[in-house]
Amino acid sequence: MILFKKAAELSEYTDDQRRNGKRTGFAPTMGALHAGHISLVEYSKMENDITVSSIFINPTQFNDPKDFEKYPVTIERDIEMLEAAGCDLLFIPSVQEIYPSGFNHTKKYELGFLETVLEGKYRPGHYQGVCMVMERLLKIVMPDNLYLGQKDYQQCMVIKKLIEMIGLDKIINVNICPTLREADGLAMSSRNMRLNKEERESAATIFKALSLIKSNTGFKNIELLEQDAKKVLEEKKFKVDYVEIANADNLEEIKNWDGKKKMVALTAAYLNDIRLIDNLILN
Ligand code: AMP
Repeated sequence: MILFKKAAELSEYTDDQRRNGKRTGFAPTMGALHAGHISLVEYSKMENDITVSSIFINPTQFNDPKDFEKYPVTIERDIEMLEAAGCDLLFIPSVQEIYPSGFNHTKKYELGFLETVLEGKYRPGHYQGVCMVMERLLKIVMPDNLYLGQKDYQQCMVIKKLIEMIGLDKIINVNICPTLREADGLAMSSRNMRLNKEERESAATIFKALSLIKSNTGFKNIELLEQDAKKVLEEKKFKVDYVEIANADNLEEIKNWDGKKKMVALTAAYLNDIRLIDNLILN
């Protein structure tokens, strides 16, 4: 695996590969890697000649400075894991390399409705930061295929929209990969490393609450499904930001299900100061 710290050097390398007809897959991350991240690299390896990953804890997407400060860093282990997975190129830029003119930006990404609901509503500015870093990373790597996790359902939609907005949708193909879970159903997440033993046991309740919605879909009305799931979480001391059942295609809230629309249940909840998110397609 070749490690790059400089954007220009990585671009030069991937440009060269492209000229030689090689297909490039890209799996961006913020590090503290787990099997979910590695699965993106594995998908990429199956479908491309070259697989690129990146590790960059993007300051502009943290609306809560404490979350940024406490974000886990396990860089040496991450490098070993990527190397073992057969990743070809790894980009580990400095903040200066990604934001040479600082964070003060004038560009506003018009994400519309997507930014007003769920994560957009509860994490103001978060998706502006995601777009800032993704636009930069995509233009540096210029992959044929981008690999994202369904775990961050709304983020996948935001990034797809960004790719259209910056006119790269004919070049970059977005692949959304399934959420990898622990044996008890907890979605793998870098933030899980921060959970203590007791919190870790409770954390599986998120998947239980979403599964409860799924198993009762069609039998109970939507509001009741949401309320039941919220209750299950609160009984385990979660502070719930939202439990919402939405149209899986556009994240519009669903109040009454017509039996046809594809639906997704999404939740975000805190265990003490650790915020966890997850989602499940219902039908
Ligand atoms: P992050 O490092 O949290 O920014 O995540 C980097 C990429 O890994 C994103 O596309 C995530 O959606 C994806 N990802 C995170 N957790 C999982 C998981 N449990 N299963 C599959 N992909 C994941």
